[in-house]
Amino acid sequence: MKEQLALLRELQRIDLDLDRLNEEKGGLQERLDEHKTVLSKLTTELDAQKAELDEVRTLERSKKRDMGETKDTLTERKKRLLNVASTKEYNAVEKEIEVLQKSSENLEEELLKLSEAIETTEVSIQTKSAMTAELAKSISSEEAAASDDLQRLDDEIDRLNKRTDEARGEVSKRVLYKYDFIRSRRPGLAIVASRDGHCEGCFMSLPPQLFIQVQRGETLETCPSCQRIMFFWEHGAGEEGPELRETA
Ligand SMILES: [Zn+2]
Repeated sequence: MKEQLALLRELQRIDLDLDRLNEEKGGLQERLDEHKTVLSKLTTELDAQKAELDEVRTLERSKKRDMGETKDTLTERKKRLLNVASTKEYNAVEKEIEVLQKSSENLEEELLKLSEAIETTEVSIQTKSAMTAELAKSISSEEAAASDDLQRLDDEIDRLNKRTDEARGEVSKRVLYKYDFIRSRRPGLAIVASRDGHCEGCFMSLPPQLFIQVQRGETLETCPSCQRIMFFWEHGAGEEGPELRETA
């Protein structure tokens, strides 16, 4: 069993390295994805504003046409006013002119508002376009920089995955099952040192009989408190120190 525990510790070292690398890779990817989400949101907003601008411009064109027609009619009616045959007709044309004038004023006001809206939207589109372009540029340079890091991480992960496979091949199925089970329930350490009568994983004191069993190293023993597999670590035995306690 001692040999199995030593193999397991070796496996755990590799797995912990893998955890760290995968986490690093995930963080890198996450940052890139976050920036891409912001970019896609900006692009969507920009497209919506451009569509809005098109609509307002169409409306403005149609109002301008109305304005032209109203002014033409107004000029025509004003001419007619000079050539009316009766007071009744005069009054009718005068009334018409009044209505046309009012609608021309209204159109003027609407056109002013539309041109203000167009100007505001144009400025906003310009600002957003600049922001979008800048962000896209920074994302692509970020991606270029990250691609080296990602490649390095992937290579390292591949290498460690191969080593994990090798190490797993040497550990017995029963011990592996236990190890995998513990790691599936809580990431990090699955095998910890036991010394001075306590578990280095959770610092609980172990029942003396259990500690003796761990010291003998003939059986697979787990901590009654944190359930981790334990190995015996002797002071000054020249052995590499116990695995670090879980710090994450
Ligand atoms: Zn424990």
